[in-house]
Amino acid sequence: MPEPKRHAVIAGAGIGGLTAALALHRQGWRITVCERAAGPAAVGAGIVLAPNALRAYDAIGFDATRAAGRAVPASMGLRRPGGGRLGRTDTAALTARYGRPPLAVHRTALTSALAAALPEGALAYGTAVTAVDGAAGAGGRAVVRTASGNLTADAVIAADGIHSPLRRRHFPDHPGLRYSGETAWRTVLPAGPAAEAAETWGRGERFGTAPLADGRVYLYATAVVPEGYRPADVRAELLRRYGTWHDPIPALLERIDPGAVLQHDLYDLAAPLPRLHDGRTAWIGDAAHAMTPNLGQGGCQAVEDAVVLAHLLGGPDVPAALAAYTRARLARTDAVRIRARRMGRVAALSHPLAVAARDLALRAVPARASLRALDDLFDGFRLPGE
Ligand SMILES: Cc1cc2nc3c(=O)[nH]c(=O)nc-3n(C[C@H](O)[C@H](O)[C@H](O)COP(=O)(O)OP(=O)(O)OC[C@H]3O[C@@H](n4cnc5c(N)ncnc54)[C@H](O)[C@@H]3O)c2cc1C
Repeated sequence: MPEPKRHAVIAGAGIGGLTAALALHRQGWRITVCERAAGPAAVGAGIVLAPNALRAYDAIGFDATRAAGRAVPASMGLRRPGGGRLGRTDTAALTARYGRPPLAVHRTALTSALAAALPEGALAYGTAVTAVDGAAGAGGRAVVRTASGNLTADAVIAADGIHSPLRRRHFPDHPGLRYSGETAWRTVLPAGPAAEAAETWGRGERFGTAPLADGRVYLYATAVVPEGYRPADVRAELLRRYGTWHDPIPALLERIDPGAVLQHDLYDLAAPLPRLHDGRTAWIGDAAHAMTPNLGQGGCQAVEDAVVLAHLLGGPDVPAALAAYTRARLARTDAVRIRARRMGRVAALSHPLAVAARDLALRAVPARASLRALDDLFDGFRLPGE
């Protein structure tokens, strides 16, 4: 008789959880993804997948480009509110150095494609994981408590996001999240006039655009504000802050549907977790190492985590695989978290003299040097043992 498949329960059907589910499924595991939300999330925002995440997807045979539609390569331009160039990284240079350019994709297209690649019945919506009990030993199994009953699992993956209830439960002494000082607005505009992939840095304010596959445009903006600040009229707020910036920003803002604008205050973990596993549970993505989005790496690191973890779980000893996962991932993800935080501080400068000095320094960096600075991120994905 064939051995019964090992069973992994994954808490959370975001990018990290769905990627882990697919990677483990392709490795021969039986998987159950428990998602608290009642159905698939329709997140009205884009996400940029950098070459490191795309390489991780290659390792499990998932073609994010095809799956998410005809994704558009994003070159990265950096500008000032008046339109002057602070820097530019060309798609051709990125492709030459990292084998491919980053891809801007609609989040829902990506998560739908991942979910569609899972076996039928693997996704349990409306199923919040409330606790994981027991079983650190080699032969044991974990009991996953959910709102709709208990499940037993050989391995549990906590992919339950930035506010991770499982992180708080298993690491009660960890200081948790800290506010970065910035909030972010995001939306996706219907297809219209073309916009380049660019980010514009002002004084304590940033505005970004990324064209998506079908002509839609992903917009995001950040501002230094007190935690919890919510404008009464979001369109008026965005027009007031960015409406006099260079073209095509004012025209893009005119096309915004205020009801479709997401706002999230930006946080990261105040300190790294002591380890990324406990017993038979491993933490991935924002649950493990929430970071500010300044490098566009939070989702990419979640993808790396998921693929590395599934690779290590190919071995027979689950607790040993989870310990190896911490060794493989903790230092890298924490370095990215710290770098994102530092980058955010520079980008959020608001004193005119500091901003002038920053902009001067940015213009002075040769294109080759700014490209090389991405090596650790874009070229940093490795499977253990490679
Ligand atoms: C403004 C902004 C821009 C960003 N841009 C980029 C970018 O360009 N590139 C990039 O790589 N990253 C980017 N990020 C970061 C990226 O969005 C996150 O790092 C990524 O979505 C994390 O994925 P995740 O799967 O870990 O968590 P999530 O996507 O948050 O998924 C967690 C899931 O767990 C579910 N859940 C929570 N609790 C439970 C429970 N108890 N039981 C079951 N389910 C539960 C939630 O409902 C949710 O579906 C950005 C973030 C922000 C805020």
